[in-house]
Amino acid sequence: MDEVIFVGTSDAFGSGGRRQSAILVRGPRGSILMDCGATTNTGLADLGIDRNEIDLILISHFHSDHFGGLPLFLLAALYQDQRRHPLAIVGPPEIEERVRGLARAMGHDLDSRQWPFPLSFHEVGLAGEQEFGPAQVRAFQTQHQADARPHGYQVSLGGPTIAYSGDTGWFDALPERVAGADLFVCECTFLNRALDFHLSLDEISEHRATMDVGRLILTHLGSEMVAQREEIDFETADDGLRLGL
Ligand SMILES: [Zn+2]
Ligand SMILES: [Zn+2]
Repeated sequence: MDEVIFVGTSDAFGSGGRRQSAILVRGPRGSILMDCGATTNTGLADLGIDRNEIDLILISHFHSDHFGGLPLFLLAALYQDQRRHPLAIVGPPEIEERVRGLARAMGHDLDSRQWPFPLSFHEVGLAGEQEFGPAQVRAFQTQHQADARPHGYQVSLGGPTIAYSGDTGWFDALPERVAGADLFVCECTFLNRALDFHLSLDEISEHRATMDVGRLILTHLGSEMVAQREEIDFETADDGLRLGL
C-alpha cells in the first residue's frame, strides 16, 4: 500500500498559516517527495518524517514555494542527518543549475562541499514514462509562468498512480494528462477564476466530469479556499493529512 502525506498545502504566501507545497509518497519501493517549498524542513520535523527516508525529490517548477526548501534540505542531510543514502533530485530542464544557483544566492554554495552521499540531478523528458530510482514518472507541461519551467506529473512507486498538477491554470489537455490516476492532487488557489496560471474551484467544478481519476484532492489553497473549505463539494488537503491508497 502507498501512503501519501501532505507536508505543505498552502499557496505561495502561506495562506491560513499552512506550509508551502511538499507531498511525501511512500510505496513498496521507496519514498519520494513531490516539491520542496521553503517550509519543508519545518513540515518534515513537525510530522516526524526522517529526511533519510526520502530517495528522490521531484520538483514541479522553479518557484520558491516549490523548490525553495532544497538548499537547506541538502545542508541538513549533510550536517544534521549524516546521510549516506543516495538522493536523486528530479525536475524540469535546468534542474541542476537552478538548484545550485538558488543555493548560491541563499548563501549555501553546494559546489564547494564534499557530499558523503551520492547526490544526482536528473531532467525529466516529455516523451513517455521514465524511471528514476523507485519511481516511474510521466511528465507533462502545465499552464504557468514559462520561465519557471512548469510541469505536472503522473507518478507510481510500483502501486497506485498519483497525478500531481504542480501549479497550473486550466488547459484543455489537463484531463488527458491525468487520466487513469488513482489519486489526482490538484492545485486550487482561488474560489473564482482570477488568473490564467492558477486554477479555481469554479474551473475544477466545471471540468470535474471530464477528469477520469479515482480521487481528487485539492491543495495549494489560497486564502479564500482556506476559509471556504468546509462548505465546498471537494476534498481539500491539510498539512499533515495522511492517506492510504
Ligand atoms: Zn505555487
Ligand atoms: Zn508557481
